Amino acid sequence: MSIGKNPGKNEVLFVWFNHYSGVTLKTPSKTLVIDPVDVKSRDFKHIDAILITHEHYDHLDQSLVAEMCKLTECNVVADPTSAKRLRNLIPPDRLKEAAPGSEIKLDKVTVRAEKSNHPPAATPVCYLVTSEDGLRVFHTADSLPYQEMALVGEDKLDVVFCTVAIAPGASPESGVDIARFTKAKVAVPYHTGSVADQQRFAEIMKKELPKTTCLIPETGKIYQVSRRP
Ligand SMILES: [Zn+2]
Repeated sequence: MSIGKNPGKNEVLFVWFNHYSGVTLKTPSKTLVIDPVDVKSRDFKHIDAILITHEHYDHLDQSLVAEMCKLTECNVVADPTSAKRLRNLIPPDRLKEAAPGSEIKLDKVTVRAEKSNHPPAATPVCYLVTSEDGLRVFHTADSLPYQEMALVGEDKLDVVFCTVAIAPGASPESGVDIARFTKAKVAVPYHTGSVADQQRFAEIMKKELPKTTCLIPETGKIYQVSRRP
């Protein structure tokens, strides 16, 4: 789940590592791990920050986050509810609470928490990561599409992760709406255990948003994305 090679300038690498929204994202200088569950702490060699989007079991595993943090001495950025659950497990100087609108700087890489439309969670967020080269990745976790996603997209998104199943209300169709609102260059269908959901997403994308690249990820594989020109 760790990424051995380094991305070049204006590039990022990512690995999707479970059937939910677990993603390792590597920029030229930082490694971020989002929503780690169903993995072992030893699977990660180096981490700069762990990002947690909400408190549900398929996104937050407190003891795993604590172990990963201990092993790699990384920062942990979490929505307020998850941060509360992690408070006694993570050193206070490494735990950053992220409500929508808050921005955390990891040197030249910026992590901004955005609104999430996932009502069953208490205080869910999405994360907009901007690399040191200005490449933008929007990780929407379990969020359903919402109108203001278009505002995040105004910043010219390079990659958007779109949930296509498992979360309440999520489907390949709602995933396509996320791609539509955000106008990202590359749309990645995830949060599913079924390749059929991803293929359905790709079919609708081809018809409705033919200019957007649809990248169907396999778990455990490394993908590279370059900054849009
Ligand atoms: Zn989920």
